[in-house]
Amino acid sequence: MDIIRQYKNVKYVWLIVFLLLALSSCARAPGRKTLPPTVRPQMQPQVTPEIFPPGMRSTIVHVVAPGETVWRISKMYDVSIEHIVKENRLKNSSMLEKGQRLNISQAAPVRPVVTLYPSKKWKYIIIHHSATDSGSALGFDKSHQARGFNRGLGYDFVIANGTADKLDGQIEVSPRWIKQEDGAHCKAGNMNCRAIGICLVGNFSQERVSAKQMDSLIYLVNRLSKYYNIPKNNILGHGQVKGANTECPGTKFPWAEFKNKL
Ligand SMILES: [Zn+2]
Repeated sequence: MDIIRQYKNVKYVWLIVFLLLALSSCARAPGRKTLPPTVRPQMQPQVTPEIFPPGMRSTIVHVVAPGETVWRISKMYDVSIEHIVKENRLKNSSMLEKGQRLNISQAAPVRPVVTLYPSKKWKYIIIHHSATDSGSALGFDKSHQARGFNRGLGYDFVIANGTADKLDGQIEVSPRWIKQEDGAHCKAGNMNCRAIGICLVGNFSQERVSAKQMDSLIYLVNRLSKYYNIPKNNILGHGQVKGANTECPGTKFPWAEFKNKL
């Protein structure tokens, strides 16, 4: 009997030792962390606030460019969404058509609504010219679609030259930028997925960049390069990208003036 009892006691001791070891090893094991669900960073656009004196307001006609919403247009002219909806009897304010004409009274001079989205995608800025005398985001959208770009306008921004219903120096924002999609402006160097494409309307192998276009370009490039931490060396003309066989943005593009003002 004693032997059996002893045997039972030994068995219990080993059981206790085993349990203690098991517990202590659990305590020492790194705790399993509850992983948070995958969170996609929210696209929170930042908009440039600019205020214009009321005396400068006038009635204008705005031709809707690709990707423009009533919200964006209301910011461009510093008027309310309701004001645009009411004045143009819009039934569905979220549905604007490209090329649609909107009357806007009490409109402030158009200002750039450069929306910025948190992203690690953008490492370069590529400058282009349209190599045409005139144009706008709307026109290039049509021509790019005709060239087979099924998502239309290949650039992220267009800087107008006072033709095609747009003002000299007016910055137009492309739907590709608003949706943060890859561009279709520079295949070389795999730039379409890592470079912001800016197109100035004009042919700068033949003519000069207007002063207002240059001011807008500097404003835009400074804003983008600061926000996305893009170094000066990564701000290039299309033709300066290795493998790109083009004189874009033109042989007369004023590089020294441009780089000095950055
Ligand atoms: Zn180009």
